[in-house]
Amino acid sequence: MLAAYAVHVEHSRGRRIPEPQHPYRNDFQRDRDRVIHARAFRRLEAKTQVFTRRYSDHFRNRLTHTLEVSQISRTIAGALGLNVDLVEALALVHDIGHPPFGHAGEKSLDAAMREHGLAFDHNLHALRIVEDFEQRYAAFRGLNLTFEVREGIIKHSRDYDAKEHPALAEYLLDQRPPLEAQLIDLTDEIAYNTADLDDGYEAHLLSLEEIREGVPVFDRYYREAEQIYPGAITKLKFNEALKRVINRLVDDLISNTQARLQQARIQTLDDVRHHPERLAAFSPAVEAERKQSKDFLYENLYFSPALADEKDDAERVIGALFAFWMESPEALPHNYQEKAKEKDESLPRVICDYIAGMTDNFIFEQYEKHCAGA
Ligand code: MG
Repeated sequence: MLAAYAVHVEHSRGRRIPEPQHPYRNDFQRDRDRVIHARAFRRLEAKTQVFTRRYSDHFRNRLTHTLEVSQISRTIAGALGLNVDLVEALALVHDIGHPPFGHAGEKSLDAAMREHGLAFDHNLHALRIVEDFEQRYAAFRGLNLTFEVREGIIKHSRDYDAKEHPALAEYLLDQRPPLEAQLIDLTDEIAYNTADLDDGYEAHLLSLEEIREGVPVFDRYYREAEQIYPGAITKLKFNEALKRVINRLVDDLISNTQARLQQARIQTLDDVRHHPERLAAFSPAVEAERKQSKDFLYENLYFSPALADEKDDAERVIGALFAFWMESPEALPHNYQEKAKEKDESLPRVICDYIAGMTDNFIFEQYEKHCAGA
């Protein structure tokens, strides 16, 4: 059922270090499983997506968000005849490079790096994790993933300039990524644009009225749910409406991508790679709705005063720890000190790597240990 424009595992460009075939799992299935067994993957459980544990144990964290992206991606990939194993591996790995404290953590870490003329980028960090930091196998450092998974880690959400990133040259930066990777950025949006409405509502930071007013597509489906289930409690009608929003986004992404593939006469993976733009896309009407709900979330949730404390925490904790280890590198764990002594890794980069790998709990512990009372 695999389309000709899908990635076919037997045509994979393979691993850095060749390995014998597994008797009953193909290379992308093995990559998916290696991601699941990675420490960095398990740590996603204790990393903030939007809400810290202060709010509730049943709100999304980075791990459950990742699982939702994986579920949605598999459905869409199956309907488009894409390689579901590759899509699943890419979905599960897509947020593995995220630091603690969600988006605020990413910004704070980047700000700390910029003071040293450097930057933090979660895709590049994810690549460092799977290429080097994960130490699980005796035969190689990292996870020794296939080219297509590494390429997808780098290229799923943005394009990198070949001149600015000579180290990424092997990832065919002048070509579009396969559809399997293109999908991930959009399914990520489907997942969090809907989940954050749900968690924001449950956290009482967004009211039903605000959401219905600010997200017209939700309102349309809420009315529908009221008609079909007039006796249902509000939260169940809310869920019915949100389910329909997800379905609308998913249906549209499938049908619009199919139409674009036909229009562009895409036959093969090479056609996908050499097309001047990405082919996975929402239709203009649904793209406008997606943007509307994203803007609503930025204005009313992500930048809301209620979440400001968490943002301040991220800035304060990351800023103070970064400065502390710059001053006192001898307080870093031994293996990080070693890395900083090897000339190819600068001290800021080593500190950044250490902080980026931390969970929310662990970084607070470090802050208490080194910076509290300072
Ligand atoms: Mg994500």
